[in-house]
Amino acid sequence: MSRSLPSLDTLFTWIRTESPTHDRAGVNLMMDLVVAQMQDAPVAIERVPGEQGLGDTLVLRAGPQTTEPSILVMSHLDTVHPLGTIERDLPLRIEGDRLYGPGIYDMKGGAWFCLEAFKDVARKGTAVRPMVFLVTPDEEIGSPTTRPIIEALGRRSAYALVTEPARDGGQIVTARKGVGRFDVHVEGRPAHAGSRHKDGRNAIYEAARQILAIEAMTDYARGITTTVGMVSGGTAMNTIPQHCRFPVDLRVETVADGEAVTAAILGLKPQNSDFKVTVTGA
Ligand SMILES: [Zn+2]
Repeated sequence: MSRSLPSLDTLFTWIRTESPTHDRAGVNLMMDLVVAQMQDAPVAIERVPGEQGLGDTLVLRAGPQTTEPSILVMSHLDTVHPLGTIERDLPLRIEGDRLYGPGIYDMKGGAWFCLEAFKDVARKGTAVRPMVFLVTPDEEIGSPTTRPIIEALGRRSAYALVTEPARDGGQIVTARKGVGRFDVHVEGRPAHAGSRHKDGRNAIYEAARQILAIEAMTDYARGITTTVGMVSGGTAMNTIPQHCRFPVDLRVETVADGEAVTAAILGLKPQNSDFKVTVTGA
């Protein structure tokens, strides 16, 4: 890198261009910046229009145009940071040899460096296989619109590299856990907390029991984790709540564990028929 470090100005522009997943305009501005970055390189650019209100996808191709399986590189340019983060919480700044700003770690920094490398190899014409660079707009919400493209390109590739950040100590991630997302809705029976307590069926209380059961599915030895990261329920302090909702985040290392724990979560039953427990997701 030190030999010919490209100007960091482009990267600064990237960080100033805030691009939370649901801000289509911001994400598409990022795609525009990538297109501009490739302008003077022998790179074929395919721009796939966004779906479901999300941003566009770019498929960049370079290297020999043969039928040989390609080298696939994947980056996403959406971030988890809401608009205004750069003003309020995470201003663009350099401290020592580190650059800070929303989304630079995950994953604009890695994407930008790798696109520079991709362009460099494309220019030199030294690639021995077709090179494909996929730039997606929706990774942070589980790639709902780009999954088919990822799978199709993956099937045609000999290698797939992802420019996600390294772990502690600069270690490269060679496998990612499978992820499940569920929404649980518990319904009880509302009643006044003072005069009609006996008649109520507290949905939050039932949800708490369910949450204990869900968290108990965590098994570090097998690499299974379940997390209830948010809870909402109830309408007033003096009212026994009718509804309680919470999401469940599931991570697994094997397909078999994924299927087993998914079945367990989808099969959650209330302690008795006064409550209704509805689980959606996969
Ligand atoms: Zn990422």
